[in-house]
This record gives sequence, C-alpha cells and structure tokens, in this order.
Amino acid sequence: MLIAGNWKMNTDASSCVELARGVVQESENAGVVRVTVCPPNVFLSTVGTVLNGTRVSLGAQNMHALGSGAYTGEVSGEMLHSLGCRFVILGHSERRQHFGETDAEVNRKVKKAIKVKLVPIVCVGENLDQRRAGREREVVASQVKYALEGFTLSSSNALIIAYEPVWAIGTGETASPVQAQDMHALIRKLVRQQFGEKIASGLHILYGGSMTPTNAKDLLSEKDVDGGLIGGASLNADVFGQIIQAAKDVEQGSRTASTT
Ligand code: PEP
Repeated sequence: MLIAGNWKMNTDASSCVELARGVVQESENAGVVRVTVCPPNVFLSTVGTVLNGTRVSLGAQNMHALGSGAYTGEVSGEMLHSLGCRFVILGHSERRQHFGETDAEVNRKVKKAIKVKLVPIVCVGENLDQRRAGREREVVASQVKYALEGFTLSSSNALIIAYEPVWAIGTGETASPVQAQDMHALIRKLVRQQFGEKIASGLHILYGGSMTPTNAKDLLSEKDVDGGLIGGASLNADVFGQIIQAAKDVEQGSRTASTT
C-alpha cells in the first residue's frame, strides 16, 4: 500500500518544512504502508532534507520529457532524480486541463521517467460528462493504453497508475468503493494485456479524488485499490496521518484474514 500526498501549488518556504516534519512523525508507525509527498518543485530540496533518513520518500508533481535544453521554466527527470526524488506524478488532470498536456506528451514523460529511474505515478480518469455519458471505461482505457505505449517493464515497482476521476478531484465527491474497484480492475486488466500477469499483479494502482479519513478505509479495502493519491487532505499532517493509519488498518486486516 502506498499513500502519496500531492501538495499541488501550496505551502511556502517555512510551512513546507513544518508539513514535512509532521508527515514524518505521522509515518513513524506506518508499518508496511509506504508514504511519499510531492511538494512544489521549488521546495523539493528543502523537503528532501527533512525527509532524509526517514520512512517518507520524495516525489515531484511533473517533469519535462527531455533531459536539458532551452526550455525556460521547465524541470527534467534527471534534475528530479539528482535531488533524491523517487516518484513523479505525470498526466495529472490539472496538467491535462490547464496546461493542455496530451496523451502523447504523457507517454513521452512516462518513458523518460522510467529511463532516469524515477517511478511515474500516471494519472488517468474521466470527467463528469464522460461518466454521465457512460464513457468512463472507454476514456480511461484509452488514457492507459496511450500512456503505456512503446516500452517494457522489468519490475512492477517501476510504475504506478492512479485512477483519479476528474469529477472527484477537490470536489468533496468520491467514487464509491464499487466504482473505484470497477475502474481499478479494468486498469489492471489493461496492464496485464500490455506487460503480463507478473507485472499486473504486483502493480500499485492508487485511487485519488477527495480521499479523506472518513472514506479512506472503505476505498482502500477494495481488492484492486493499492493506495491513495491525496490532494487537499495531504496538506494537514494530522489528517494525512489518519489516512496512513486507515491504510495500515486495511493492510493488517487483510494479512490477518489471509493467515486464518
Ligand atoms: C489530486 O489532485 O491528485 C487529488 C486527489 O486531489 P484531492 O484529494 O484534493 O481531491
């Protein structure tokens, strides 16, 4: 189980330190649950220093598909890797929506991230109109297929997919556990077709979209939900800690069930 915090364009030079320290504290007893936070790029180094030697790993929210060059304002995968980042969120719906990021661009970034040994957290998800029209499976299948085109994977740990229905991001609405499980199962099936059973069964598929301490346990209990990508609720260490605890409870419950 992986619990990832997407801080988006939030915090400042001092509050990022305070939040990172809080998350470290909340993660001390996380057991087998892995925790990562993705601060704004300008604070990666500062937050990385706080996380150094702790159980919490560092991630970024985006990167350019190329390694270096005349791309003012951009950041490369190599740069993120050199700062100690382990993960990078790619294809978040806010990037697709506000910055015109296409499936083809997401695919280029995914390939580059894997090449520089970052683990991409590839976000896919339908918007409200698409769900209302009953097109959610078609939309997500197309995003997944496009994102995964043209490369092979040697390990299921080299890639993460996050199912994030756009209508649930920052809205307070969540997919029901049944809706989430249905889409996660579809994603795993597509990964199985592309990379085979071994990769598909070990792949982490995260749910994202207004996850809170209240709904986390039900969502995380679903068979194909392997963690959460959390926006708003990751900006408060105590609240984020409660989601980590929910993940831990689910893990412990499933391990107890499998030994009885
Ligand atoms: C996100 O932006 O990835 C996200 C899941 O946001 P929120 O938890 O605020 O809906």
